[in-house]
Amino acid sequence: MSSNHQHVNGNGLPDVNILAQLANQYFKSAPNGQASIPTYRLEPPAHSNGTVPQSVAGSGISPSALEQGAAFNIKDPQTSLPDPHFVTGQVPKSVAGSGISPAVKNAEEVPSFEQELQQIIKQISIPFPVSQLPDFSAPSFYFLSGQLSSGNAQPPFDLNTIKADFPILKQQVNGRPLIWLDNAATTQKPKQVIERISQFYETENSNIHRAAHELAARATDAYEGARKKVQGFLGAASPNEIVFVRGATEAINLVAQSWGEQFLKAGDEIIVSHLEHHANIVPWQQLAAKKGLVLRVIPVDEDGQVIIEEYAKLLNPKTKLVSFTQVSNALGTVTPAAEITAMARTTGAKVLIDGAQAVSHKRVNVQELNCDWYVFSGHKVFGPTGIGVLYGKEALLNDMQPWQGGGNMIRDVTFEHTAYQPAPARFEAGTGNIADAVGLGAALDYVSKIGLELIELYEHNLLHYATGLLKQVKGLRLIGTAADKAGVLSFVLEGFKTEEVGAYLNKQGIAVRSGHHCAQPILRRFGVESTVRPSLALYNTCADIDALVQALHQIR
Ligand code: PMP
Repeated sequence: MSSNHQHVNGNGLPDVNILAQLANQYFKSAPNGQASIPTYRLEPPAHSNGTVPQSVAGSGISPSALEQGAAFNIKDPQTSLPDPHFVTGQVPKSVAGSGISPAVKNAEEVPSFEQELQQIIKQISIPFPVSQLPDFSAPSFYFLSGQLSSGNAQPPFDLNTIKADFPILKQQVNGRPLIWLDNAATTQKPKQVIERISQFYETENSNIHRAAHELAARATDAYEGARKKVQGFLGAASPNEIVFVRGATEAINLVAQSWGEQFLKAGDEIIVSHLEHHANIVPWQQLAAKKGLVLRVIPVDEDGQVIIEEYAKLLNPKTKLVSFTQVSNALGTVTPAAEITAMARTTGAKVLIDGAQAVSHKRVNVQELNCDWYVFSGHKVFGPTGIGVLYGKEALLNDMQPWQGGGNMIRDVTFEHTAYQPAPARFEAGTGNIADAVGLGAALDYVSKIGLELIELYEHNLLHYATGLLKQVKGLRLIGTAADKAGVLSFVLEGFKTEEVGAYLNKQGIAVRSGHHCAQPILRRFGVESTVRPSLALYNTCADIDALVQALHQIR
């Protein structure tokens, strides 16, 4: 993560003021959030003059740990820096409320992290785009002050605004409020998406493109409108570059069975990374077996980041394709996608980026990445299942042979010959998943309204908050400790099978995945067959993390 994503206070702790500001802007910009923005002044934080920052609240570090001088350093999840306040035994009152009950004394007497955050949020707001936020890594941040643009009186913020958009999160599971930390497997759907799909079936449903009647026109507009939303979301040059498919898996298989079948020949080489999901291994393996291709693998280091120098050695004139993930679903590693792509260009290789785990966590721009194809699944970005996207450069898509034949993809058919439509229709044979494409459009509207930059910053802080706490759980080994990570915390717990941990958490209403996450090669690289994998999304809060960590402490 670049340095301006590191929000640390002088203690090396994630700064709750920053988290609060982010949450504030984030929740405020929620599609159903309050629109008014107050006049306010950001005061220098208390600790700038040496007093203990109130913002340490909710660090989640138990007072006992603090008394021992333990703290975690957000800049380097591997290190624990002693904190001067803690070493002197001056435990900030508000540190309690981490939600970690075994260590919290008089927990009911002190405000919880969420309560404090709410208090802070009532007082401050950042009414400017996140791209204009100051460089939080610079010490001057602590002295940020001044009158910022104003609006109307601000009603109190509700940190649960986002969560409230997701009806499924309101339920109890096993007698506890559901905490959904299985977002890398699939994300929950906001009511905006659910209602959009209902609306489609109630008022627009028709097959598209074919009939000259009102509902066909409405359905076609809705479907093609969704395509334009995807185009904007990915920064593609044209809606013709957006092919609707079932999901990331189908998109990769499409490229393998169309372009791969058509253009690759025996001896050609394909490079993938060690981090790949099976969806980005098996289709290439199948093609390699059929055509005599060579599959090469970029190794990763001990933290789970790809080793660029080793990748450079794999590249050669026979390399025809580099296909890799932007964010690992098993470890959370964010790969240097633009660099990997630029290097592939030196050999003339094509580049496919698997964005299944990226699109819900960070802004993606396919033109900036300069990839040939980019794939993702709707269900991992708060959209429906059964719909996904293959982005491809338009000229390239039009050079590729169709992979399925049928209606919708043809220009003209005789018994002797068929002329195909240009992209995207040439890859959309038959009746597509119209309603869910429309639902995906609503999901992309939803995240875009909040802002991917803000989501990334918020989750980044949450990830570091969680990383610091998990490292204090006895016997817990984090798998995947790259400096640049998004959304995923994979671990094993000494003395427990991963499924035992998953089952115990389930009893507490906490949903995490335990297993191999369809990424066996990378788990084996770290000597394990499975991990427990909590994974974050925009609706998760520090309280969710506190509940997870508390349960892990209790499991013994
Ligand atoms: N790639 C990655 C990185 C993934 O995480 C997943 C889903 N876990 C896929 C591809 C496949 O996605 P889908 O099953 O939605 O096709």
